[in-house]
Amino acid sequence: MTLGILGGGQLGYMLALAGYPLGLHFRFLDPSPEAPVGRIAQRVTADYTDHAALERFANGLELVTYEFENVPVEAAKFLAQRVPVCPPPAALEAAQDRFAEKTLFRSLGIDTTDFLPVAKPGEFDTAVKQLGLPAVLKTCRMGYDGKGQWILRTAEDVARAKSELPKVALILERFVPFTRELSVLAARSSKGETAFYPLVENHHRGGILRLSLAPAPALEPRIQQAAEDIARRVLESLKYVGVLAIEFFQHQGRLLANEMAPRVHNSGHWTIEGAVTSQFENHLRAVLGLPLGSTGAAGHCAMINLIGDLPDPSEVLVVPDAHVHFYGKVPRPGRKLGHVTLRAASPERLALRLSELPAFFHRPDFCLDSALAQSASY
Ligand code: AMP
Repeated sequence: MTLGILGGGQLGYMLALAGYPLGLHFRFLDPSPEAPVGRIAQRVTADYTDHAALERFANGLELVTYEFENVPVEAAKFLAQRVPVCPPPAALEAAQDRFAEKTLFRSLGIDTTDFLPVAKPGEFDTAVKQLGLPAVLKTCRMGYDGKGQWILRTAEDVARAKSELPKVALILERFVPFTRELSVLAARSSKGETAFYPLVENHHRGGILRLSLAPAPALEPRIQQAAEDIARRVLESLKYVGVLAIEFFQHQGRLLANEMAPRVHNSGHWTIEGAVTSQFENHLRAVLGLPLGSTGAAGHCAMINLIGDLPDPSEVLVVPDAHVHFYGKVPRPGRKLGHVTLRAASPERLALRLSELPAFFHRPDFCLDSALAQSASY
């Protein structure tokens, strides 16, 4: 049985690695000849808009899923006429536009920060006046890892942003002075079964995820319950099939939904070694209508992203229960090249393991020491 995956980055790579023990085969479509899945699976190298290539790609596939949320919705719809596509293209459509996404959250009774559309430059001043400062201006589409965002704290920031306003749809959001950032990974199978992983605490720098602690330290059961209720509402409303990630701000003891990703997610990489069933395996089980696996955590984990450069693996592997993942990508500044997961029986042991990591990991951009200090204050 061969599954098609749109996008050939590390998420697709890890989906395939989880699928091989289940006897699955994979075919990828990605525009870049550099995509890391080329090492391990069949690949069609073509644009998502190339209908002839999409036909070739779809031929003989059991179903199509995606590992990249900016796949053109039109490509997903084109494929859906030939082969089942999940998650549903409607989920892709909602997640690709920040305004549509937050409007969907609100329509489902899910709290978000206050936001306003800035469809044309003339609406910017009114939106700033209405929401007040500080605020965050974002492009509605194609923004990820902190790209296409301006934090507005002062009148000078507003004036600067105004002079740089790109001619695309924008959203202005009230800035949230959050306690912390959390995410939930949820799965819904084509049979309607649902499962939820424990919430994860995420640390970003420059808008890029650097570190996830799983389960989130000092996680209150009511917060976990609230996240599951929110995720269930989104899953059911979209008749979703697959793994879905929702990112939150925890603010004044409440969850505010910030965004969702209709795919496996970087903040779920810890599940490979840290949960009974990984997010990758559960995504495959979900889309194939197989029973979902347990989402329980097997201990306490830290997942550290390797961005821009890689450590010497032997220096990491010497740490007990450290797991190294290199994605086989060409190093470039700001590029996610791999991750390391550390697992321990208790939060105290985990903190000890993290402090034993080589100096490479104690650079401020890893957020390790700041996250440990934050955890100690809970
Ligand atoms: P996003 O692309 O929406 O995930 O934003 C990237 C990062 O910017 C988030 O993970 C937050 O750290 C920060 N951020 C985004 N929106 C806001 C907001 N409204 N208030 C405060 N921080 C934000």
